[in-house]
Amino acid sequence: AKSLGKNRYELYSEELTTDARYHLEVEQDLRQALKSNQFVLHYQPQFNLEDEQLCGYEALVRWQHPELGLLGPDKFIPVAEETQLIVPLGWQIIDSVCRRVERWLRDGIDVPMVAINISPQQLLQADFIQRLNGLVDQYGLPRHLLELEITESMILKDPDFVIQQLQRLRLSGYHLALDDFGTGYSSLDRIKYLPLHRIKIDKSFTRDIGRNPKDEAVIISAIALGRSLGVEVLAEGVETEAQCDFLRRHECNSAQGYLFGKPVPPEVVSQCAFKKLG
Ligand code: C2E
Ligand code: CA
Ligand code: CA
Ligand code: CA
Repeated sequence: AKSLGKNRYELYSEELTTDARYHLEVEQDLRQALKSNQFVLHYQPQFNLEDEQLCGYEALVRWQHPELGLLGPDKFIPVAEETQLIVPLGWQIIDSVCRRVERWLRDGIDVPMVAINISPQQLLQADFIQRLNGLVDQYGLPRHLLELEITESMILKDPDFVIQQLQRLRLSGYHLALDDFGTGYSSLDRIKYLPLHRIKIDKSFTRDIGRNPKDEAVIISAIALGRSLGVEVLAEGVETEAQCDFLRRHECNSAQGYLFGKPVPPEVVSQCAFKKLG
């Protein structure tokens, strides 16, 4: 990896390309990073719009790169997925969330729920649920404290198996959320078979509230869909009071975004929680 020298900055600042060399180099870096625990999680709060209470956190991975500093997931998740390194990375992420939640609980910090992003390859592993249960039990955590976020594209890979996995996960006690709702080729027909607790409306729709009536129409129908399926609806990427007012007016259940708080390191979450208590 040393041979990369100065090119590394360019490597990671370039748009992701299909360039084989790029992928090979990032892959080597990722392997090293997994061995030396360079991945960290930041937590972003989620708020219930009805009672204004904190209702959860989403865990978002970052790479503390020794030379390049903190890298966002868009810089490495695509390569991790192509190289299957997302599987070991995914386990490090789940382990890290469990360890953190266990500690928060031990410190008397109220943890409503923590959401974890799950990659398709991970969910498709035959032993995924068994291993997940083992890990969560090992930390002694109630399963309903964890929400697993999956995407629509994941369902397309192997619909029958994915639906089966989701049903097993739900029976095991986890919460399930459909992430990035509206961005895939949603099969509304299929969604009714998914044992979901929540739908997360993608931030590309929230962004255009007040600017594009078509985006507003999508949000309104997602909220209606959620209501008729008995599933909660969360809007992502809420940045302004105006967006929040719109969502409240249309009885969206919950929201996440910079208006409420950016993703922060776990130490900051603990401090905020203590501030509220004191
Ligand atoms: P996502 O799951 O849709 O995560 C939400 C993204 O929106 C996060 O970006 C978050 O920082 C950003 N965000 C939150 N509030 C706002 C806002 O008000 N405005 C705007 N413009 N953005 C906001 P991030 O952390 O860069 O993550 C990007 C994507 O990487 C995630 O999208 C998710 O697909 C993936 N990812 C993140 N963490 C993990 C992980 O642990 N495992 C896997 N497999 N994928 C992850
Ligand atoms: Ca997510
Ligand atoms: Ca999302
Ligand atoms: Ca739009």
